[in-house]
Order: sequence, then C-alpha cells, then structure tokens
Amino acid sequence: MADEFDVVVIGAGPAGYPAAIRGAQNGLKVACVDAWRNRDGTAALGGTCLNAGCIPSKALLESTELYHRLRKEFAVHGIRASGIELDLPTMQQRRAGIVKKMTDGIGALFKAAGVTAIQGHGRLLPDRRVEVTAQDGSKRLLAAKHVVLASGSAPIELKGLPFDGEHIIDSWTALELGAVPKRLGVIGAGAIGLELGSVWRRLGSEVVVLEALNEFLAAADRQLAREALRQLRQQELDIRLGASVSAARTVSGAVEVSYDDAKGSQRVTVDTLIVAVGRRPYTEDLLAPDTGVILDRRGFVTVDEQCATGVDGVWAIGDCVRGPMLAHKGKEEGVMVADLIAGRYGEVNYRAIPSIIYTAPEIATVGATEEQVKASGRAYKVGVFPFLANGRARALEATAGFVKMISAADDDEILGVHIIGPLAGELIAEAVLALEYRASSEDLQRTMHAHPTLSEALHEASLAVDKRSIDSINKS
Ligand code: FAD
Ligand code: AMP
Repeated sequence: MADEFDVVVIGAGPAGYPAAIRGAQNGLKVACVDAWRNRDGTAALGGTCLNAGCIPSKALLESTELYHRLRKEFAVHGIRASGIELDLPTMQQRRAGIVKKMTDGIGALFKAAGVTAIQGHGRLLPDRRVEVTAQDGSKRLLAAKHVVLASGSAPIELKGLPFDGEHIIDSWTALELGAVPKRLGVIGAGAIGLELGSVWRRLGSEVVVLEALNEFLAAADRQLAREALRQLRQQELDIRLGASVSAARTVSGAVEVSYDDAKGSQRVTVDTLIVAVGRRPYTEDLLAPDTGVILDRRGFVTVDEQCATGVDGVWAIGDCVRGPMLAHKGKEEGVMVADLIAGRYGEVNYRAIPSIIYTAPEIATVGATEEQVKASGRAYKVGVFPFLANGRARALEATAGFVKMISAADDDEILGVHIIGPLAGELIAEAVLALEYRASSEDLQRTMHAHPTLSEALHEASLAVDKRSIDSINKS
C-alpha cells in the first residue's frame, strides 16, 4: 500500500525545500524525500547549498577575509596587532556549526509547516508514484497527485583526474581541509574556483588557477571581468588563462598537473588540486523506465518555462533543470511550482536572475552585459561610477571597483547592472528590483539614497547614464 500525498518533492536543497514549504502553506499534504548524507554518514536537509556549497563557503570567506584584513589592512586604520595566529580547527568548527544550525533549521521549518520529511533515495515510477529506498535498503511506496523533482547537481570530474579525496579534490572536500596547503591548484576560474582559491590564498597558500578559456569570466560584462582579473591578480592569485588541463598524477604526495596553453605543454606541481570545472545535473537513478520524463543529452530534466516536464503532474526545478545553477533560481522555481500546483499564480522572471561571486571585492551582476546589448543592435547608454568617489567606500577603505549601469537609449529601461566592489552582492538587490519593475535609469535617478552609503554608488551610476553624476566627472 502506498502512502498518499498531494505533493511529493524529491530533494530538500534550496529548490526542493521551499517547494515543500510553500505546498504546505497552500494547504496541501506534502512529503519531501531527501538522500543527503554527510561525510560521517549523518543525514541532513538543505542539499548542496547548505551542506557543501553556498553556506559553508561564505562562512569560510568571511573568516579568512577577517584574518587577511587583520594582518594586512588594519594598520591603515591605526590598529596594530601582533601575535596574530590562525586557528584553523576553530575556523572549521565555526563553519560546521553554521551549517548544522541552518540544516537543523529546515527540519524545524518542515515541522512547523506540516511537511513530512522522509530520509532515503526517491525514484519516480509511472503514475506519480515514488519508491523510497532507506539507507538500510528497506523500501516504501508513496503516491502523489504531483511530484516535484529537485535532485540538484554534482561536481564534474575531469577525465584522467578522478577525485581521490586527498590530493585531487572536489569543492566539498576543499571546504573541509584541516591544513593549509602550501601549493594549491584550482582548475576552473568560475565562481566556485575563485571563491575557494581566495579562501586558501588568504590563509597563505600559493594559489595557481588554471582556466581553459582565454577570456576571464567569459559570460560577464568585459569591463567588469577586466577589473575583476586585475583585482584578483593583485591578491597574488596566479590566474592562468587559456590553460586547459589534460592530466594530473600524484607522485610522492604532490600532484603534477599537465596543461596546454598557447605556448604548448606546461606542467605545474601542487600539494592539493581542486577541480572546480562546473557541475552536472544529478539525475542518477531518479527515473524508472517509462515515466515519460525526458532527460536531455547532458542529463538535465527537460522542462518548459513553468518547470512542467510534460508528464501530467510531474515538475522539475533547480540545478537538475536548464538555467543557471544558483540556489535563489531554484528557490523561485520551487515556489512557482508549488503555487501553480495549488491553482495559484506563479512565475519566474528568468531575465532578472542575479549572479554573485563572493571574492573581495565581490562581483555581482544582473541582466544583459554591454556586449549582449551591443550584439542585439539596440542603442544604449552606459553609466559607470567608481567606488573611489563614494564616501562610505572610503570609510570602509574599500574603494576598488565600480557600478556600471546600462539602459536603453530609446525608453531608458535598465537592461543590466554590473558591480564590482564592497558588498556588491547586497547592492545588486536594488538593481534586481529595478529590472523586475522594468525601471528606467531616471526612476533610480529620482529615488533618494541615504548618505553616506554604498548604495549611493548605484544612484550615481544611474545619474552617470545621462552624464548627470554629481559626485564624479561625467565623461562625454
Ligand atoms: P541541491 O542543493 O544539490 O539539493 C538536491 C538534494 O536532493 C540533495 O540533498 C540530494 O542529496 C538530494 N537528492 C538527489 N537525488 C535524490 C533522490 N533521487 N532521492 C532523494 N534525494 C535526492 N549558489 C548560489 O546561489 N550562491 C552561492 O553562493 C553558491 N555557492 C556555492 C558554492 C559551492 C562550493 C557550490 C558547490 C555550489 C554553490 N552554489 C551557490 C550553487 C548551489 O549550491 C546550487 O545551485 C543549489 O544547491 C541547487 O539547489 P537544488 O535544490 O537544485 O539542488
Ligand atoms: P563554472 O562552470 O562557472 O563553475 O566554471 C568552471 C570553469 O572551468 C569554466 O570557466 C571552464 O572553462 C573551466 N574548465 C573546464 N574544464 C577545464 C579544464 N580541463 N582545464 C581548465 N579549465 C577548465
């Protein structure tokens, strides 16, 4: 006999758990099945994001930035410190403690909302039934009016460089290292590679980042990417572009990495090698034959704009479907699907998905790059405002970077905002709202921004779009 639910969600990551909670808020009977196991075998809710991604990485980025600033940047404030010591075990315990509190929190949210959490591996069978296999191998059958697939993603392993958990490692292991590697290699200069490289660089590793593409942050606005590369290289991240890694071998505890660049075959030796070349949808053993759900060539579940799979009552959200692999994108899809299931209105605006790299300075973007707008043929205006001219940034001693705003020449609609600078990840929220409301640069120009705040840089960038910035010299 199957246990019956209105909605069964497979996966309790940042896509699945909001879908389950919103489903329950909508008065439906919801179960959420999740298979996550920590390294010590314990179960935890929250998926990659809370256990091995967004949250632990930001915990370490914060701690390591404080360590770095105390050693290198406090003196300028007239604060001298001596005897500064790194206590990595405590830093790592703090990271683990934050993760535990957050993942336990989801259990509490499920309880409060009335969501039934089921530990085990879920597999979709035909007719919206789900078979759950617990860790001890026992099976349980669920039947639902709707099933939401939210199985997430896993790190991509390069051919010839299998993870060994010690020298050649994935991003999860890279967050849990118990010692600072002397020489660290990172393959892939995406968000994950740059954040992890920054963490260990700040703690003293010599870091070399190998990126196959010739262009840094190839999808980003070029002006932004150039500034980001300059800033990160200043921090002595040895970023090598056009460096395609083909092999690595571990010899006497060190990893010899072979790569090809414009000059030919190269080699670099490191103590630890992080492979951060992207993630793939995790859809292994998710679907029984004959469910009708289609996986594309790369393993993504095929869905439409509303995350419907085309099979009646089966939906898919988050990293296991097309679109950027970002926690907030999955969350919005989860909420949309739960509302659509309940007959309510639901929509995701795929044109206004913010993307943030939490390096120092942070890099945050939303909407179209200048190159994309140019390629579209639409006439446009650009305003750039440097943090150097912002009072709060001066007070913070964080003046590197700028805000760049692009708006349409005809109706002034804001098409894209690109920020590199202090707390760019927080500042971008205003730009996301502006895109969501289809605001013009003039709308932002006429919006009062508190002084002295970093947000004034966004205000001034909107004014600079029409060459009317007050606090910087407008270039014609
Ligand atoms: P996941 O979080 O992967 O969750 C899927 C869950 O489903 C997991 O618990 C998994 O065990 C479970 N599962 C899978 N298959 C089954 C099954 N058949 N049965 C039962 N359970 C199953 N994104 C951001 O937006 N901001 C960041 O700062 C950020 N930083 C990151 C840093 C790192 C190091 C990494 C690795 C990722 C980061 N990401 C970040 C990406 C983010 O973690 C993902 O986009 C997000 O976790 C995707 O959510 P999801 O719910 O789709 O999948
Ligand atoms: P992202 O997908 O944003 O996490 O970034 C992953 C990065 O890894 C991309 O910029 C890829 O170009 C890069 N990459 C993928 N394969 C290789 C490789 N074999 N050698 C070096 N870089 C790679």
